[in-house]
Amino acid sequence: MPTPESRRLQTLLNLSLPGGLGDKPREELRQHTEEMARLFNVPVCQISVLDRDAQHVLAAHGPAQQVNDMRHCLCAQMIAQQAPLVVPDLQADPRWHDHPLLQADPPLRFYAGVPVPSLAGVYFGALCIMDHRPRPDITPRELGLLQRLAVLISSSLERRMRHHRRRMDAELLSHGPTAAVVLQLSNGWPPVYTSGNLREVIGLDAADALAAGTPFEQLIHADDRSRFADAMRGHLETPLPALQISYQLAGSGGRCIRQSTFTLPSPRPGEPRRVCAYLVDETRQKRLEASIAATKDRLLLAVESAQLGTFDLDLRTGIGSINARLAEIIGHRLEDYEYTPWGWLERVHPLDRHYLDTMRSQLAALGDGKQSVAYRVRHSDGHYVWVQSYSKVAERDAAGMPQRVVGTLMDVTAQKHDELKRQRQRQLLDALNDVQASFLLNQDMRAASKRLLDPLLAMNESLFGFIGILRKGPDGQRSLVLPAVSDLAWDAATRGRMAMLERQGRDLHFDNFDNLFGHVITHETVVRSAPDAPHPAARGLPPGHPPLSTFLGMPIVFDGQVTGMIGLANRPGGYDDELVALLTPLTTTLGALIRARELDEARRNAEAELQRLAVADGLTGLLNRRAFMAALQDTLERCHRGDGPCTLAMLDLDHFKQVNDRHGHPAGDEVLRHFAEALRGVAREVDIAGRLGGEEFALLLHGVDVTQALVPLERLRASLAAHPVPWDGQQITVTVSIGTAVVPERGASIQTWLAAADRALYAAKQGGRDRIHPAD
Ligand code: GH3
Ligand code: MG
Ligand code: MG
Repeated sequence: MPTPESRRLQTLLNLSLPGGLGDKPREELRQHTEEMARLFNVPVCQISVLDRDAQHVLAAHGPAQQVNDMRHCLCAQMIAQQAPLVVPDLQADPRWHDHPLLQADPPLRFYAGVPVPSLAGVYFGALCIMDHRPRPDITPRELGLLQRLAVLISSSLERRMRHHRRRMDAELLSHGPTAAVVLQLSNGWPPVYTSGNLREVIGLDAADALAAGTPFEQLIHADDRSRFADAMRGHLETPLPALQISYQLAGSGGRCIRQSTFTLPSPRPGEPRRVCAYLVDETRQKRLEASIAATKDRLLLAVESAQLGTFDLDLRTGIGSINARLAEIIGHRLEDYEYTPWGWLERVHPLDRHYLDTMRSQLAALGDGKQSVAYRVRHSDGHYVWVQSYSKVAERDAAGMPQRVVGTLMDVTAQKHDELKRQRQRQLLDALNDVQASFLLNQDMRAASKRLLDPLLAMNESLFGFIGILRKGPDGQRSLVLPAVSDLAWDAATRGRMAMLERQGRDLHFDNFDNLFGHVITHETVVRSAPDAPHPAARGLPPGHPPLSTFLGMPIVFDGQVTGMIGLANRPGGYDDELVALLTPLTTTLGALIRARELDEARRNAEAELQRLAVADGLTGLLNRRAFMAALQDTLERCHRGDGPCTLAMLDLDHFKQVNDRHGHPAGDEVLRHFAEALRGVAREVDIAGRLGGEEFALLLHGVDVTQALVPLERLRASLAAHPVPWDGQQITVTVSIGTAVVPERGASIQTWLAAADRALYAAKQGGRDRIHPAD
């Protein structure tokens, strides 16, 4: 139950007091106070109301007495006691002797007040009179008169306020969005009242048509007319409290109206009931709704036509839902596929799982939480499809951690495939350029192959691989040398072997071609092997070798000849035709490089041979005369620069003419070769041996004087004499005469030196041959 105080306050509110009191009632009240002051012959009369904690003077004759401290407010006291209060002399009354009214100038000493009642039966204000002199003469009759006047003031105030409120209501309504029409419940629903704002709400044409007598029903669009009629009939049959319908008005672009109707009682018995209809123009809202619905439809259409898969994943429960398209992307029907986050992750390509990890952590990071990533996911057929995933955090917990993630997936396999192909071609081209440049720089096939291997593996995602070059040994035996091979050592022994080869700068090589690798070489063909389609040439692997799940071997061919091969293994998903086609230019280039290297090697060998031929004697392989003379000149100059002692020995076979004569020229040649071999046998690394012509030889002994030179020369002489040369079942004994000479004086030429040695040789011959004679 409301307390009297709260009811009093509510009354004030209902009457919009004190704020809502217009100027006109205020003036009227003021006139009342003026008349009452005259009637009671007092200088002050005022009407005030009290809200919760303040007194408001509504009207006053004489200076208004507003008391701010409610404890001193006599009106408040009176209203609280709900009875009139008369104080004939405040100054004489011990309760009020210090009342603020006594501080007025001049002081007010008399107060008589009556509470002002309202229709609701509560006192909401006070009517009081005050005087400067004490008024012990106030009679009960006068007080009664004051009370009746308070009632009159109250009812006039209430009437005024009600009227004011109604005007305000009407004003608000007529300026508001709701129009009102009172319709008579009879044929055509003729209007008996329309609010002023009807034109604004239903439009000018409709309002004018109604004013011109068109039945209300005719204003409504033909499609909606029966619904309107049904609603109105509802009111006709039973007095319904309220009914709401929406309809469109007739005519193109007719407005959409929401209508609430209430049954009103008949004004006079026997007359038809009436219905008050409140009308609101909801055209804008309807259009907005229609546009939202259309947008939603369009979005759905876009999702469908873009073939978007969608998912909604609750991270708290791990439960998620997907649409049919998402299931279809991985080759399932929605009804057959049970989506779980773990099941999905298991399908993601092992090399792409890190993308999802990154995405998870990025989603966890605060921010707008939108992420896009492309990755491969396994189709039910076993192959991988590329999907582009857009995810967004839909809910986070208090700590900001994602709780729900929603997103879309699109099958981008075709685009990704093209993109990867282009990328691989680019990588391959780069690798080829690089390997060619590296090869041209230092003609080193080994370095070039090593350089190529890593980009090659990365490009096609193989885990192992090698580049092999075919070499032919002197015996014609082929072997495959691997200048570049990925580290495939699988135990201590293989690791040790690889490390040793590395240290020695030697390459791993295979001589056995009766296996998967060999098949590439021997059949000059591409070889592929996969777990579900193993190649017949696969011979298994050595114990401990890591499993090779998928393998691709491609021959390196140039000019129709196999010169090597590349081997790749363990590419997830295996090796397809497209990859083989992509790698073919690589093998062609490698073939060209290998051939270029072979040609280069051959050219270098030929050059070396030519050079050797230019300086060598054809029969014995020793330096020829010209080359020996050049070496002699060089030695002489060095010795003159102080490069230590040096001895020149001239050697001439004795009676060689007889060898030819007795055994024939070929036997003579054999003896010359035999002697040359013996000469090489005594010559040290630093010594230089040459054939000056016929059966005449020379030996330059570095760092030794004539005496020291005697030791090897004597060994040569003695050995030759002691060991006959076998020829055609016979033994040919030859001897040699040797003359030696030390480096001639500074300024002397090699001719001087040669002449000195020649003289010594002549002396040896003269002395009986088969001997050594040093220069004089
Ligand atoms: P001596 O002890 O005085 O040196 O007598 P000799 O017979 O060795 O000397 P001579 O100069 O008279 O004879 C050299 C012979 O060497 C003449 C020539 O037929 C022979 N001769 C020169 N060049 C070759 C050759 O390349 N092959 C053969 N089989 N004989 C050669
Ligand atoms: Mg001779
Ligand atoms: Mg001779």
